[in-house]
Amino acid sequence: MAHFDNLFDSEDENDFDIIVVGGGLTGLTAAYNILERHVGLDVLILERNNAIGGRIISQTESKFYYGHSLQKNITHMLDTFDIPKEFKIDIGEKQKVLFTKNGPLENKLPSYIAGEIHYFLKAINSNSMDPKFKIYSAHEEAEDLSRISIDQLICRLVFLPQSRSICRTFISLVCGINDTHYISALWVLVMLHGANGLLTRLKIVLGDEHRYFVKNGMMSIAEELVRRIEDENGEMHCKEQVNTIQFNNDRVYVTTDIRTYRCNHVIIAVPPQESVLIQIQPEPPINLIHCQNLFQCSKTIFFNATYKTPFWHTQFSGDIISTWNSKTKLRIAYDASSWSKRESVIAGFISESNQTSRASIDLFDVLNACFKSSQSRNYIDYKETQGNSMNVPKPDNINHHINPMFTPWGRIFFASSEYAPTWPGTVDGALESGNISACLLLMRTRPQALSPLEIISCTNQRVKPRPSQPIRAAMLQYICLTVNVIIFLSYFRAAYQND
Ligand SMILES: Cc1cc2nc3c(=O)[nH]c(=O)nc-3n(C[C@H](O)[C@H](O)[C@H](O)COP(=O)(O)OP(=O)(O)OC[C@H]3O[C@@H](n4cnc5c(N)ncnc54)[C@H](O)[C@@H]3O)c2cc1C
Repeated sequence: MAHFDNLFDSEDENDFDIIVVGGGLTGLTAAYNILERHVGLDVLILERNNAIGGRIISQTESKFYYGHSLQKNITHMLDTFDIPKEFKIDIGEKQKVLFTKNGPLENKLPSYIAGEIHYFLKAINSNSMDPKFKIYSAHEEAEDLSRISIDQLICRLVFLPQSRSICRTFISLVCGINDTHYISALWVLVMLHGANGLLTRLKIVLGDEHRYFVKNGMMSIAEELVRRIEDENGEMHCKEQVNTIQFNNDRVYVTTDIRTYRCNHVIIAVPPQESVLIQIQPEPPINLIHCQNLFQCSKTIFFNATYKTPFWHTQFSGDIISTWNSKTKLRIAYDASSWSKRESVIAGFISESNQTSRASIDLFDVLNACFKSSQSRNYIDYKETQGNSMNVPKPDNINHHINPMFTPWGRIFFASSEYAPTWPGTVDGALESGNISACLLLMRTRPQALSPLEIISCTNQRVKPRPSQPIRAAMLQYICLTVNVIIFLSYFRAAYQND
């Protein structure tokens, strides 16, 4: 029996039913989902930072985070919590500008390039909707796609360099990561399946009239969750980093840099590459660790520039997307103005700081060129924040492509916005993942608290992989052994009967 069995003799203030590691939106949602059902489970959230919120970096910046009506989890939560949304005022023209190495593209795309891009988008869109990409399941196509990057898939489907560059641009936009060499092609198809195809996912990234901002910022969701968790007597401890988790048949022991807690179950609600830093005993299966290690950070810089008077409204209210070969820092920029507060803001992501002078084209030069203006540097405030918006897995063997959320290890459950089946890497994904992990945990401890629909949606997601090579080899050995035994027995019987 493990040495930690006798750490505690009786219940005390360090004893809980459930501990949630991570006070981001995933962890808060999971905790609230359990508490609001009133099924006699007490919950503690442990967060290593001074405050909750995780990747919702601050109240101010979170005003520029956006959601979309197609994203059911966030839209439903905002409605339930009565948090106001802000849609764009319809000012007529809603245009997207593609900034290429020759400057802003104005209906100049040659038809053979447009044709190739159209073919690629259509192929990815229709393939991603194939039911075989609903979950990670081992079939021949999946095995091939798991080993190649999405960049290699682009090269297989598209031939002209300019078309490839635009295809890479669209894919890196929906994946939130710049380098398409490091993104598993299988993951892209599974992710897009959840989003109902590439074109639907693009709608959210590029925005349309259904894109919205949250009136006081996305942080309002985290704050409301905290209020409700406290009302339900949930506990939260900030500035406590979880370092080790040990479990046996009876209990789980969660050790932070301050103390050791005891509980029945744990939800680790932290991004994959941070989750593997927590030491778990007994050690999780190798493919579970390997799969979390596959995830790469996006390492992007989030910027926002505030203006007294908008320099772009007379032209259009749209997004600027710069193509891969355009040699600019800008990846995507969008109009994030708050109409109710009369605040004019352009926000988005750049690949390197705009405040360091480098050879690449400056963000403001791109904005000026796209909006046909010379005013983009006349901001009253400009801010950059280093952030890791989204993590995606690299290509690898199909056996390492699993979703940790549906692969709990003993008394430990895994959750993160990255594991959400529908909109991974977004706020909606965090809420979905928090809800699913809470349901998976309740299915084990309080199944009576779940609706039949919740039970079905949780069990439907479980992956049934094809037996891995070692298992198949073991099965073959087993069959050979059985055949040998049968031959030996029949020989032995024949010899015995002859005697
Ligand atoms: C700059 C930026 C802009 C974005 N814009 C948008 C947007 O417009 N729309 C959108 O939908 N999404 C956006 N996103 C993505 C969205 O914010 C995230 O997908 C979501 O917030 C992730 O939530 P999470 O709870 O899964 O992870 P996190 O927010 O990362 O939460 C994990 C928490 O766990 C804590 N933690 C980690 N390890 C430990 C440990 N060992 N012990 C204790 N605590 C630990 C961390 O401190 C963190 O608080 C953006 C992200 C960034 C960074």
